[in-house]
Amino acid sequence: MESITGPNGETLFIDPTEGKRGAKGPFYVVYADGGGEDRWGFYCGNCDTANNAVDPMGRIQCNICSNRTKAEEWDAAHE
Ligand SMILES: [Zn+2]
Repeated sequence: MESITGPNGETLFIDPTEGKRGAKGPFYVVYADGGGEDRWGFYCGNCDTANNAVDPMGRIQCNICSNRTKAEEWDAAHE
């Protein structure tokens, strides 16, 4: 777990081993606690922010750099 400062000044934790591939860079799963139990959202690995939105289809789009995941790649990304 890597700690970062969230958009409201809170401490968040990134799991660098868990994420989704985006068009410009990876999105990593972010937790609100260091134990990885309280899932907070995603962190954009392209512009290093946690400012993004997830649509009802589960696609992530960064509000800063427009990095986004493509839903059809979710199950194809084996790394
Ligand atoms: Zn971004």
